[in-house]
Amino acid sequence: MGVKRSLRFPAIILATLTALAGCASTATRLPEISAPDLLAESLLQESRALEVQSAHRHRLSRIGRRILLANAELCPKTRRDIGVIIHSDDSYAKEMRIAARRELGVLDRPSIFHVIPNSPADIAGLKQGDVILIDEKAVDATDKALQDALSSERAALSIDRDGQRRTITVEPQTLCHSRLRLRSSAAINAIADGRHITVTTGMMEFAQSDDELAMVIGHELAHNTMGHIRKVIGNLILSGFATRYTRPFESESDYVGLYYMVRAGFDPDGVETFWRRLADVDPRSVNRAKTHPTFPDRYLRIAAARGEIRAKQAAGEPLVPNFKADAEGE
Ligand SMILES: [Zn+2]
Repeated sequence: MGVKRSLRFPAIILATLTALAGCASTATRLPEISAPDLLAESLLQESRALEVQSAHRHRLSRIGRRILLANAELCPKTRRDIGVIIHSDDSYAKEMRIAARRELGVLDRPSIFHVIPNSPADIAGLKQGDVILIDEKAVDATDKALQDALSSERAALSIDRDGQRRTITVEPQTLCHSRLRLRSSAAINAIADGRHITVTTGMMEFAQSDDELAMVIGHELAHNTMGHIRKVIGNLILSGFATRYTRPFESESDYVGLYYMVRAGFDPDGVETFWRRLADVDPRSVNRAKTHPTFPDRYLRIAAARGEIRAKQAAGEPLVPNFKADAEGE
């Protein structure tokens, strides 16, 4: 997806260099600021930034998990999941680690950062700050030991909560294999790499409704499940390293992704408006068709796909995409 908001780094660097080259004293007398005020303001800005980032991660996981769960039977690869985000120092940029410890209670070992509402973890009573232990070792979400522990219908997990040991029984669910990731970037973008669905903070802000975000996640999930990455390509809804050969895959992901979002209970009515709004902020890309279909093409095809889905719903037919007669299963 890739509308880069103009950040004008070069201009800033240029201005800095000019100032240095001038090596000059400035002409005006600036108002004084105090060191305590400066410290307080920097703590405040770090705290706000982490709060915004946390809200994005909660929303991304809440919406994404619904889609990964509802489409598990259509996904060629699946994994077991209980609905927690686990974090540690490594989850944060180096510059933000001290703030993350201060504001979010990040530990030096993996601990639960967020329990997704109504997930198995929520139902079982897991809480933020809990540490899941397997063989006395704190596990991360992607650790194989955790996947193995979740393979049965009911899993007894050993938990460290504020230094107290307890055992909690959860009933894991099967999800599509893709994992969700948030990337701090003002670019309006989402990326599939075969294993992950990465959504930028710029996209989180641009996708106003949860239905729009569900469409974006559905699109990226389709890239992963339809084997598009293997079938030559890179990624991206809109931009990037892709070639003109990616265009049919983009249309296919729009089509299959819309089924994914509807199957997860999201409302497809009007989601194509996303493309008009993107045109508002990125008019030069409207009719650019190098790596992706044009915005008008995508707008119309999404509306048409919705018509097809609505007809199937009305007829009580299963909500699965139409495959070509000779299509190989992926
Ligand atoms: Zn795409």
